[in-house]
Amino acid sequence: MGDGLYGRTLPQPTELDGPYWDGLRRYELLIQRCTDCQSYLWYPTEVCSRCQSFSMQWTPVAPTGEIYSFTTQYQRTGSKFDEDIPYTSVIVQLAEASEVTMGGLLVEADPDQVRVGLPVVGVFVDATPEITLLQFRPQT
Ligand SMILES: [Zn+2]
Repeated sequence: MGDGLYGRTLPQPTELDGPYWDGLRRYELLIQRCTDCQSYLWYPTEVCSRCQSFSMQWTPVAPTGEIYSFTTQYQRTGSKFDEDIPYTSVIVQLAEASEVTMGGLLVEADPDQVRVGLPVVGVFVDATPEITLLQFRPQT
């Protein structure tokens, strides 16, 4: 973990989740899919949590879905995220892979309009030349 141009702690891709980060750099969301039971799996894993298979394939999925749960931060915590207060962290259930819920930051949203079930779409944010982050905004 290190601070990049983005000014915040950024992820360090590993061998396991590297394809996910490579996909985001191309503005594409890739999720592992078990080739035996066809389940989508998140977070990146070496073994399918449903059938224990080791046979996984990175599969493009549309970065759209709906808010499954959310938290809006109003209190300063002393972190670099304070400048964005109030901001909302969401857990999104993906439309094309409904067994997957993934966390992210909600942007371009009025905290008062955020609700469970709100349709959202992915926003690819280039934090550094190496790291692109996936955030979400309300679908219009
Ligand atoms: Zn499986």
